[in-house]
Amino acid sequence: MKKTAIFPGSFDPFTKGHQDIVLRGLQLFDKVIIAIGHNTKKHNRYFDIDKMVKKIEEAFDGNDGVEVVVYNELTASFAQKHDAKFLLRGLRNTTDFEYENSISQMNKYLNAELESVFLITSPELAAINSTIIREVHKYGGDVTPFLPYKI
Ligand code: ADP
Repeated sequence: MKKTAIFPGSFDPFTKGHQDIVLRGLQLFDKVIIAIGHNTKKHNRYFDIDKMVKKIEEAFDGNDGVEVVVYNELTASFAQKHDAKFLLRGLRNTTDFEYENSISQMNKYLNAELESVFLITSPELAAINSTIIREVHKYGGDVTPFLPYKI
């Protein structure tokens, strides 16, 4: 049976840190669905969601193990509908851990079949953070070294 994982996030923008988690995830799973969700804490996106889908597809051009989807529902339900038994997330630090710990408990409660899998960030990518990238971009700084596509 094919092993599918979803990699949910805001991806505002999708960074080289995210790309690394997907590529490493593909060593564990047959398919990784990058699911761009609506995060209640981040209502207004900075980067247009449809443009981000295209950019991510561009970054994984030719890799048929990757799919990019926008969703607006419970991650646990979205995973079930896509027959994904695994939820992939990246961990950079203890702040990520605290947050991910709570989310994964809730997801387990909502969908008992969904197993969360955490990959520790690659050290050289640990400092890459979408929030900081948005700030730098807003004030005209060059963020291209942190993104796996041309913005
Ligand atoms: P969310 O708003 O759901 O936290 P993000 O787009 O910020 O979504 O992040 C999606 C996932 O990618 C999270 O698990 C986050 O910890 C992880 N992540 C973000 N940046 C990095 C990075 N530089 N290295 C590894 N994982 C990362």
